[in-house]
Amino acid sequence: MTLFGAVEIGGTKTDLAVGTSPTDLSTPHRLPTSEPSVMISAIGDFFAEHRVDAVGVASFGPLDLDLSASRFGTMMATPKPGWTGTPLYQAIVDAVAVPVGLDTDVNGAALGEGRWGAGQGLAHFAYMTVGTGIGAGIVVDGATITGARHPEAGHVRVDREPDDRFEGVCPYHGDCLEGLASGPALEARFGRPETWAGNDAVVALEAHYLARAILGIVYTAASERVIVGGGVSTLPGLHDRIRHLLGGLLAGYPDDLDLDLLVSRPGLGELSGLSGGLVLAERALA
Ligand code: ZN
Repeated sequence: MTLFGAVEIGGTKTDLAVGTSPTDLSTPHRLPTSEPSVMISAIGDFFAEHRVDAVGVASFGPLDLDLSASRFGTMMATPKPGWTGTPLYQAIVDAVAVPVGLDTDVNGAALGEGRWGAGQGLAHFAYMTVGTGIGAGIVVDGATITGARHPEAGHVRVDREPDDRFEGVCPYHGDCLEGLASGPALEARFGRPETWAGNDAVVALEAHYLARAILGIVYTAASERVIVGGGVSTLPGLHDRIRHLLGGLLAGYPDDLDLDLLVSRPGLGELSGLSGGLVLAERALA
């Protein structure tokens, strides 16, 4: 039987697992994300012990994912110590000695959702994660968009909520989408996340910004569905509020969109990213 390895490298933690689908995925082996040499060794050691036919990696970025370039899979400038310039793809290929697939963390989550979750059966959809940061993995004709390097959908500008005077937390732009609507941006206005549930002001503000971001995705990528996941997406009532506001913003154009189908929760919960790793591994072997 063909067995796949899945790796999800996040900004703070890394998960490794083996399997063929989310239902038979091993309990993830979790370690803190530290410097690249330590992580590469740990990945090599894990897959020396757990033999697989291919490994799929969904990683934080910014990664250069230009398939035509020799620098494919290299980490671009990042404030994370030691990571800038790391040839992540090549280092993992050398460490595991089996075919490797690599994409961004959020693109990986999109692929997992597309195969087994809320994007099943759809050729064109997007997965948006809203947590410490905001990102979107856009799938068109079954393939993720990587462009010339690595899309940064969290940094688009969105119309301010008229009464929102918050300056934003993005170190580059201040009040971009991530600056206004990420978890840290909400925490700066409303305090600890444990206190947000039941606070209608939090849901209303977050839905205001996410509905605008989703509007842009729907109009530019013609997505059939936008799956909204990540820690902030667990706010009770958020998806319904987004649908309501998005309906107003779309203003009936196009007129054939079903808002209940257009905005969705993830189908795989915490397993979207690792499941995407399985898809990337399978594609690397094909
Ligand atoms: Zn920004």
